[in-house]
Amino acid sequence: MSAERVFVGLGANLGDAQTTLAAALQELAGLRDTRLVAVSSFYRSAPVQAQGPDFVNAVAELATTLEPPALLQALQEIEQIHGRERPYHHAPRTLDLDLLLYGQRVVHEAGLTLPHPRLHERAFVLQPLRELAPELVMPGLGTVAAWAACATGQPIEKLSAE
Ligand code: AMP
Repeated sequence: MSAERVFVGLGANLGDAQTTLAAALQELAGLRDTRLVAVSSFYRSAPVQAQGPDFVNAVAELATTLEPPALLQALQEIEQIHGRERPYHHAPRTLDLDLLLYGQRVVHEAGLTLPHPRLHERAFVLQPLRELAPELVMPGLGTVAAWAACATGQPIEKLSAE
């Protein structure tokens, strides 16, 4: 089976968020049947539909032969390593991992939607994703660059190159 091109969104807004993201990237690199291909810069953004301090966000590109449900489960296990609790919807989170895009796969299942349903609205996803894949066509949506150009009203600041 050939590896799929996959993008994962990372976000954290509790504790030492940059250290948490760096650790999560190592854990993504260590997943079975998976290669970490590229990592965006880190960005700082104000919470959108969430509470607490600013978020640190990044996007990682993976090449994987794990199927989407197995990959999502692996992402949730990494979230658990970092002590994520879900006391209430949109609560502050130590680490949030979202499966943004899995090749050109479109999925509408309980527990898994691809592309990620809010991907195209969020500057904190689109800006890092644009660094890695500006011309990528998101199934049913259009290019990353076109959507990123629309999400300019949301405050976001580039922190560093990874
Ligand atoms: P969140 O609070 O944003 O981490 O949402 C997690 C919930 O969203 C979990 O129950 C997942 O099963 C569900 N979900 C649906 N589609 C996705 C996706 N593409 N990536 C991550 N979580 C997803």
